[in-house]
Amino acid sequence: MYEDLCLYIDGKFIKGDARFEQDVFNPATNEVIGKLPHATREDLDFALTSAQRAFESWRRTSPLEKSKVLRRVGELARERANDIGRNMTLDEGKPLAESVGEIVFCAEHAEWHAEEARRIYGRVIPPRVDGVRQLVLREPIGVVAAFSPWNFPFNQAIRKIAAAIGSGCTIVIKGPEDAPSAVVALARLFHDAGLPPGCLNVVWGVPAEVSQYLIKSPIVRKISFTGSVAVGKQLAALAGSLMKRCTMELGGHAPVIVFDDADVDRAADMLAPYKFRNAGQVCISPTRFYVQEQAYERFVARFLDKVAKIKVGPGLEPDTKMGPLAHRRRVPAVTGFVEDAQERGAKVLAGGGALQLPGNFFAPTVVADLPDDSRLMKEEPFGPVAGMVRFRAVEEVLARANSLPYGLAAYAFTTSTRNATTIANGLEAGMVAINHLGMALAETPFGGVKESGYGSEGGAETFDGYLVTKFVTQQ
Ligand code: NAD
Repeated sequence: MYEDLCLYIDGKFIKGDARFEQDVFNPATNEVIGKLPHATREDLDFALTSAQRAFESWRRTSPLEKSKVLRRVGELARERANDIGRNMTLDEGKPLAESVGEIVFCAEHAEWHAEEARRIYGRVIPPRVDGVRQLVLREPIGVVAAFSPWNFPFNQAIRKIAAAIGSGCTIVIKGPEDAPSAVVALARLFHDAGLPPGCLNVVWGVPAEVSQYLIKSPIVRKISFTGSVAVGKQLAALAGSLMKRCTMELGGHAPVIVFDDADVDRAADMLAPYKFRNAGQVCISPTRFYVQEQAYERFVARFLDKVAKIKVGPGLEPDTKMGPLAHRRRVPAVTGFVEDAQERGAKVLAGGGALQLPGNFFAPTVVADLPDDSRLMKEEPFGPVAGMVRFRAVEEVLARANSLPYGLAAYAFTTSTRNATTIANGLEAGMVAINHLGMALAETPFGGVKESGYGSEGGAETFDGYLVTKFVTQQ
C-alpha cells in the first residue's frame, strides 16, 4: 500500500482521465510504487482561478478561524505520522524513524503558524496634524506559487503552506515529483482540517514547465522556492522581470570549524550522525570540516569510528540508520565529487562510492587532505560525503569558510568565548550553530544569505514574505 497519488484543486482530489502519469520509484529497490498524474494546462488554470477566488474570502477570514485550521492540521499530522512516514520512506528513502520524526516535528510548524497568525499587527503613527490618523496595515500579498523539494517532502512544503494560509494568502504548490506522497498527504490534512476549497491547490508536472506557467500568470503575486541555487536563480530572474516577490531557500555548503580547544570527542560524536542524516541530502548538512591542527587526528579518528557504525539499508528495516539516495541520478552526481578529490591527491578514509545493492545506496564517505579548490570543497555535494581539512588560525579559517558564494548554515566547536564571538560575528551565513546543532525549529528563522537565497521561513519573520505594507492616512 502506498499513497493514492492525485492533484488537489478547489477542494477536490483529482486523477485519471487522459492525464499523463509519471512513474514514482522506491529508491531502495528502484521498483515502481506509484503513478503520479501530471496537471494539464486546464488543471493549472483551474488551480489558479480557484486560488484567486478563494483569496477574496480567505483574506477576510478572522485570524481565529485561520488559527483553528492550522491547529487541527497539527493534530491530524501527529495522528497520521506513522502512515505518512511510511509512504515517505517508500518514495524518498530515509529511515522510517526520520520520516515519522519529520512529520511530528512539522506538527509544530502548523501550531507555530496558528499562534503567530493571531499576532499579525499593524501600527499607528502619531500624526503631524491634529485630527489625522496614520495607520500601517499589513495585508496578505495574494496568490502564492510554491515549489518544494524532495529531501524533506513534508517539512519543506508545510512551511510554505502554513505561512501562506496563516497570513491570509492562498497557494498553488508543485511538490517534488520524485517523492510526492507527503504533499498529497498534506492536502488531505488541510482538507480534513476544514480549509475552504481553493485556498490550497496541489499540482504536478514537468518542473520547468509548471513553474514558468505559474510564475508568469498575472494571478500569482509571490513565489516561494526551495531547491538548488541554479534553479532558484532562474525562477528569481523570471519573477524579477515581472516584479513579483520571492522567498528563495537554496543550497548551502556548511562549514564546520573545530578548534583545538573544543570538546573534540563530543563534537565528533554529534557531527557524524548529523552529517549522514537523510544520506547528507540536507541543505544545512555539515560538509566542509575545518579542524585545527592539534585536534585534527583525534577528531578524524573519532568521527570515522562513528561512521563505521552507520548501518546503511532500506529505510523500512528497523536497524537502518542511513537509507539510499533519493533518486538514481544522485549516485553519479555524488560519485563525481569523490573522484575529483581523489584525482587531486585526497585520501578516502571511509566509503568512497556506490554500494552493490539494488537501490541507490552510497557508502558514508569521508575524504581527507583535499585542496580548497577541489569540487567537494567548492560545490554542494548534497550527499553522504564529508571533506576534512586542517587549519591553523581563526582569521585564516574564517576567510576559507567565507570564500564560497553560499551562506546558509555554519557550525563551530570551541570552548573559547573569544573564538565563539569572532566566529559568530565573522561567518557569512544565515544560521550559525556553536557547540550544538539546534536549527530549523518552528520558532527560529530559517534562511540564507549570498547565493543561498533570501527570506526566512519560521520564527517571528515567517509571514514577512507573505504580507505587503499599506499606509493609510485619514482625517
Ligand atoms: P535540481 O536542481 O534539478 O532540482 C532541485 C529541485 O528543484 C527539485 O525539487 C526539482 O523538482 C526542482 N526543480 C528543478 N527545476 C525546476 C524548475 N525549472 N522549476 C521549478 N522547480 C524545479 O537538482 P536535483 O538533482 O533534484 O537535486 C540536487 C540539487 O538540488 C542539490 O545540489 C541541492 O543543491 C538542491 N536541493 C536543495 C534543497 C534545499 O533544501 N535547499 C532541496 C533539494 C535539492
